Amino acid sequence: MLSLEEAVERSLATATFQGSETVSLGNATGRFTAATVNAKVSLPSFDNSAMDGYAVRIRDLYGASPESPAELKCIGIIPAGNHPTQSIEAGTCIRLFTGSPIPTNADAVIMQEDCSNDPNDDRNIRFSKPIKPWKNIRFKGEDIRENDRVVTTGKRLTTGTIGLLAATGHGSIEVGIRPKVGLVATGSELVETTNELQAGEIYESNRSMLCSLVTKANGIPNAYPIVPDSLEATTAAMKKAFAENDVVLTSGGVSVGDHDHVKPAIGRLGGSLNFWKIAVKPGKPFVLGQVDGKSVFGLPGNPVSALVTYLLLVRPVLLKMQGASDLHLTKRIGRLEEKLVNRGDRRHFIRVTLDMDGIVKSAGGQRSHMLSSLAMANGLVDLPQNSSLAKGDLVEVLLVEC
Ligand code: AMP
Ligand code: MG
Repeated sequence: MLSLEEAVERSLATATFQGSETVSLGNATGRFTAATVNAKVSLPSFDNSAMDGYAVRIRDLYGASPESPAELKCIGIIPAGNHPTQSIEAGTCIRLFTGSPIPTNADAVIMQEDCSNDPNDDRNIRFSKPIKPWKNIRFKGEDIRENDRVVTTGKRLTTGTIGLLAATGHGSIEVGIRPKVGLVATGSELVETTNELQAGEIYESNRSMLCSLVTKANGIPNAYPIVPDSLEATTAAMKKAFAENDVVLTSGGVSVGDHDHVKPAIGRLGGSLNFWKIAVKPGKPFVLGQVDGKSVFGLPGNPVSALVTYLLLVRPVLLKMQGASDLHLTKRIGRLEEKLVNRGDRRHFIRVTLDMDGIVKSAGGQRSHMLSSLAMANGLVDLPQNSSLAKGDLVEVLLVEC
């Protein structure tokens, strides 16, 4: 049995960058940048007002007080979007709005709320206190300067970065291409949810779960019809999935039973096996194979085993194919609310809940067919073989909703 680390290394070794495409910013969220991007303009791109108010020269307001206000003649209005043609001279001010360019000679903006009009001539504006230099002015380049780095290669695009890209003049961005992922569920007991269950049958659930996981990793999932347990059917389904996708994920049929046909099917397709079985629970039976230069990940059929092995071994591959720089699950530290025990001889990824206060609890039954705890869980705790953690211990939680 391979260690998880070695299995991850071997899985990643099969993955290569699939190239890039340009997408509009509106479609870029969560995608991985394929190039470094610099600001086309500075932000702000010109000195402008942070307030509705008046551009002034501070020296005209020295000594102003409620008893003896300074009075300046308003010589113009600059709405946002206009270019100032006038400059301020001694004893004058100019009306501005948030985002209006600062006229020449102005060295502060006074908030509208701090001024009043001369009742006899509303072009005369009264200021009842002095103002500090450069108050309420947003300076060119104070946020980011032209040609500064906005984002580096391999980063997952967040909402904030998308906003910064747009503001610095980018309408689209080059990102890693989404890998096409074929999903093949094997098992003669599996039926579609549109059918009535007959004796011995179960509803197939791995393809829906994997669709969700693959989509979150930016992959394009292609689910194929359920495959009964025969070598011919398994081989034919996998052949089609290889022809139409960049990666194939099968579920079920990778144990040692008489009805486990995924490994022989890889052989039938002229492919090779890289490894089989890894020392983790849940998820021991797991196959990595290659057919025509494409990888197939044979996930175990048990839903929890399929999810855990996908997150640990397949997700990093899909991210690497898109050029991501960070391939692994996000970790958070939490404090255990209860004891966790692993009496087995394989490390156990235990389904847990991590709440807003950092409290970690078991998410429920931990056997690999149990889906209700999977639905509750938002994290996994990696517990080494024959070990335990006590209530109150600090633990690392791998976040699964990623
Ligand atoms: P296998 O890996 O084929 O031996 O399957 C292990 C267990 O997982 C069996 O109880 C199967 O019925 C169940 N199983 C396999 N594939 C799926 C699937 N796609 N959806 C739900 N359960 C499955
Ligand atoms: Mg099976």
